[in-house]
Amino acid sequence: MATCEVCGNDYDKSFDVVAAGVTHTFDSFECAVHQLAPSCQHCGCRMIGHGVEVDGRMYCCAHCARDVESTTAPTDRVDGSSS
Ligand SMILES: [Zn+2]
Ligand SMILES: [Zn+2]
Repeated sequence: MATCEVCGNDYDKSFDVVAAGVTHTFDSFECAVHQLAPSCQHCGCRMIGHGVEVDGRMYCCAHCARDVESTTAPTDRVDGSSS
């Protein structure tokens, strides 16, 4: 039994996530995502998947990265055929 650090719920099926050496306790993945998932630098959505990193900035997809980065043209696996 542990208390979620996001919503404070005392839940018997809580779980721990270790991120950058710090242990976080959550009652749900929704709370874990809220606390730990980085936000896209372009559209601001939470990145649940891998994301795209360009010069240390994180984007949710190659499309968002392309909108911001004019000099580089990153591609991802689902949207990398044409530009
Ligand atoms: Zn919670
Ligand atoms: Zn985005």
